[in-house]
Amino acid sequence: KNTNYKNFPMVPRVVFGRGSFGQLADILLPKRKNSDAPFIFLVDDFFENSDFADRIPWLFNDQIIFISADEEPKTEQVDYLVEKIRADYDELPSGIVGIGGGTLLDLAKAVAIMLGNKGTSDQYQGWDLVQKPSLYHVGVPTISGTGAEVSRTAVLLGPEKKLGINSDFTTYDQVVLDPDLLATVPNEQWFYTGMDCFIHCVESLNGTYLNAFSQSYGEKAYELCKEVFLNDLATEEAEEKLMMASWHGGMSIAYSQVGVAHAMSYGLSYVLGTKHGIGNCLVFQHLEEFYPEGVMLFQQMLHKHQIILPKNVCSNLTEKEMDVMIEVAYSMEALWENALGTSWKEQLSKEKLKSIYQKI
Ligand code: NAD
Ligand code: ZN
Repeated sequence: KNTNYKNFPMVPRVVFGRGSFGQLADILLPKRKNSDAPFIFLVDDFFENSDFADRIPWLFNDQIIFISADEEPKTEQVDYLVEKIRADYDELPSGIVGIGGGTLLDLAKAVAIMLGNKGTSDQYQGWDLVQKPSLYHVGVPTISGTGAEVSRTAVLLGPEKKLGINSDFTTYDQVVLDPDLLATVPNEQWFYTGMDCFIHCVESLNGTYLNAFSQSYGEKAYELCKEVFLNDLATEEAEEKLMMASWHGGMSIAYSQVGVAHAMSYGLSYVLGTKHGIGNCLVFQHLEEFYPEGVMLFQQMLHKHQIILPKNVCSNLTEKEMDVMIEVAYSMEALWENALGTSWKEQLSKEKLKSIYQKI
């Protein structure tokens, strides 16, 4: 019997509710080390010059840095931000606040880790390579689905690989869940990021790593996703439910793993820069043999929300690019093992991966 169970960290503090962003000032106040140790707010640049930006509770020499989420976070971007923050102040900040979607949430986690550790962020991509605590960090999601607000990983595109910094120090110290912040999310993006959550659930619930812990969160998130994307909920109810679905979906994969769509989506992202949410959808539509019920529901959701996925995404790839894509996907061993079991290599040829990519 396995008695070596993982001892996972969870987010120790969370606020949920409409308008709860207004409590951020009070939440940060006792965490301010002194007036010279600032808070650094890393904020999705969608909010630059918005009314929302005026509500960010900065004080003293705090800094607000607006960052584009057009590209997924990169190790060099993390290193640049860390260097800038170190150069701008004589002492370490009191903490980091990430405000945005998965891109900004992961970036803020990585910056908080690197301000407490030496070297460059690519050295920490992997599992449990972080030795020292990160700075206090707070996550405020403004779009729901990735589960980045609860997970113990910060996914970064590095010089050699797209891989998370998975560690006990990655998880947020505080999360603020304010459904009001989702109001401006465009329809397509709402769908793609929401489907990330749905796919997390399908992959977790159909995986060989499944256990009662993961299942309990996964089933809840799966039900919430079905309500949000297949029923006709009022907007506010949909926002609140997707926010909690994202949370539960993230919790579900903490104690299991994702699967085929994520492995293959990482390949797409690495070679073509395809963003996570849409990349998952592009792959998932062709996975009916792995996830029959999930793919059927997904097709209904696409139809209901009038989403037309791009076509011929992989048609102009060179043979070399296709090979890299396949290698990146194939190298995600834990994901395949979760999806297909320990003998996954016997069931999955690289030709098979190629034939799926060619349909995208
Ligand atoms: P995102 O953060 O990339 O944002 C997508 C788009 O939505 C951007 O254009 C952004 O500006 C916009 N946006 C965000 N909030 C908005 C709002 N309230 N109003 C209007 N526009 C808004 O999207 P995402 O799908 O949340 O995140 C994807 C990233 O998450 C990827 O980098 C992926 O690797 C990562 N991810 C991380 C985990 C994890 O556990 N750490 C899990 C899954 C995905
Ligand atoms: Zn995902």
